[in-house]
Amino acid sequence: MGKVIGIDLGTTNSVCAYMDRREPVVIINSEGGRVTPSVVGISKNGERFVGDIAKRQLLINPEATIHSIKRFMGRRYRDALSDCASVQYKVVETRNGDCGVEVGDRLYLPQEISAMILQKLRKSAEDFLGEQVTEAVITVPAYFTDRQRQATKDAGTIAGLNVLRIINEPTAAALAYVHDRKRSSTIAVYDFGGGTFDISLLEVDRDLAEVRATRGNNALGGADIDNKIVHWLLEEFYKEHGIDVSDDKVVLQRLRDAAERAKLELSAAYDTDIHLPFLLANASGPKHLQCTLTRATFESLAMPLFERTIEECRRAMEDSRMSPEDIDEVILVGGSSRIPMVQAMVQDLFKRPLNKSFNPDEVVAVGAAIQAGILEGDVKAVTLLDVTNFSLGIEVEGRRFAKLIPKNTTIPTQKTQLVSTVAENQRTVKIHVLQGESPDARDNVSLGDFELVGIPPAKRGEPRIHVKFAIDSNGIVHVSAKDSRSGVSGEITIEAPTGMTQSQIEELREEHETIHRRSTDSHEMKELRHQIEKQLVSLENFLRDNRGFLHKKDIFEIEQALKRGRMALLKSSDKTNLDDLSMYLARFFAHLADKTGGGDAPVH
Ligand code: AMP
Repeated sequence: MGKVIGIDLGTTNSVCAYMDRREPVVIINSEGGRVTPSVVGISKNGERFVGDIAKRQLLINPEATIHSIKRFMGRRYRDALSDCASVQYKVVETRNGDCGVEVGDRLYLPQEISAMILQKLRKSAEDFLGEQVTEAVITVPAYFTDRQRQATKDAGTIAGLNVLRIINEPTAAALAYVHDRKRSSTIAVYDFGGGTFDISLLEVDRDLAEVRATRGNNALGGADIDNKIVHWLLEEFYKEHGIDVSDDKVVLQRLRDAAERAKLELSAAYDTDIHLPFLLANASGPKHLQCTLTRATFESLAMPLFERTIEECRRAMEDSRMSPEDIDEVILVGGSSRIPMVQAMVQDLFKRPLNKSFNPDEVVAVGAAIQAGILEGDVKAVTLLDVTNFSLGIEVEGRRFAKLIPKNTTIPTQKTQLVSTVAENQRTVKIHVLQGESPDARDNVSLGDFELVGIPPAKRGEPRIHVKFAIDSNGIVHVSAKDSRSGVSGEITIEAPTGMTQSQIEELREEHETIHRRSTDSHEMKELRHQIEKQLVSLENFLRDNRGFLHKKDIFEIEQALKRGRMALLKSSDKTNLDDLSMYLARFFAHLADKTGGGDAPVH
């Protein structure tokens, strides 16, 4: 088995790590960075760019640059409408009601976009480790539903990764803590990232990490804080110029960019100047935006968001019947936890100094790598007792929701429910499975309709069908059924619970692999052409500098070699041809070096 990597697939940034014997190591990407922006750019001819290079084109091509895709993973379009408004690219509803992204005339599923990010991380890991990587542990927010987890797993498969385990981000952070400290304590992991917020309370021992409670919000993160500043900037611009620019996509992207920069600065400074020249030009000339945002104004703008995180922390303590005094350590995770006011509020709530010894950007990936090490057998096993963060149940008469597995139940877990028919000779039973807390089924997240077909004809109420609901250690739901009376196992069909069938996933995996191979090939071709170009330039320089000392025959030979080289660069796209040419030029240089006594021959 090759190395198993741990991946924190973040809303804003992603990080990848592995275990080097017993120590977690963060993998450096091909740009030399420890974090890779979770941004994908798509060019007109369908070429993909991931990471820093894509982030750079966000301003100039916002409609074809996809960021924050995690917000749309495994979500129904109608549930994600407010998030659609916060991005510049086009989010559309797919045929089965999920979110899709339209770029040009191609529709991409969020799983595909995430797969592009995962593929980039995988490639970086392969370059870094010098071996093929095919297995991974991927983290998700604790508050991800079954559909979102399944979508993340599918993204891994499309990227050619066998996802051995999906673990919750705060649990991963707790693993990093256990690995580092090796002492028993009760910890709170406050995880405020780019797009999500989670709070988890865990009891950790030397070889056991047990989640006591988790709460969170999948639509509350740094991007929402940026939005508050963007609105303030729009108002400032309106006050000065009387123009509403909230519909201009390019202006909005510039404002968003400036807002995030201002926010980052305000974590260190007490005020920051925002200067956006030529934000807009109309008949009366160019319009600029120049203003100062103080930390106090920023804090008052974002306070409602900060308060929501604190409220979730209070509720998590209520859920686990804990008080601040029961908590020994508070670990901060996620970039937004760097905001001084956030830190002050968290410290105030838990009434203790915060543990800042972990890098909030990397601790989750480090925990994922530790989990990978445990699965590989390189790291002493730590038993992870995670919980399900939503109640699982079915829709019953009157559109009500009947809970079968309550939230905060330790996973893996399972529950069997006895169901029967309501009509004579009924051959099919349909079960609508949902996750959520509302007594009204319509307010919860639908996981799909599970249909049991082929029930032998019988009087109503006679068949005794045992439906087993199981949640595995990835937090993913499985449903199976058996008609115990007839002894026949019923057939369960799941109507594309994640919006993707196995064959679609397989098709996309193959497509992505082909594109990846093509882009690797094209990169190699570019390198080869560059090498030949360098050889030709050296040869030209050599000829220019030594023309007076060379024999006519040598000059002729050099000119022929140059001509042949230029022609091949112009016309040939055959790798073998170009390889041969590069070899020929190298040999030709050696031959010239022999003739001229070495020193003056062109370098190659
Ligand atoms: P993550 O999802 O953990 O990568 O967090 C990314 C989010 O953290 C983005 O919204 C960033 O703008 C935000 N962030 C990163 N560093 C800081 C900082 N020093 N102050 C405030 N927000 C930050």
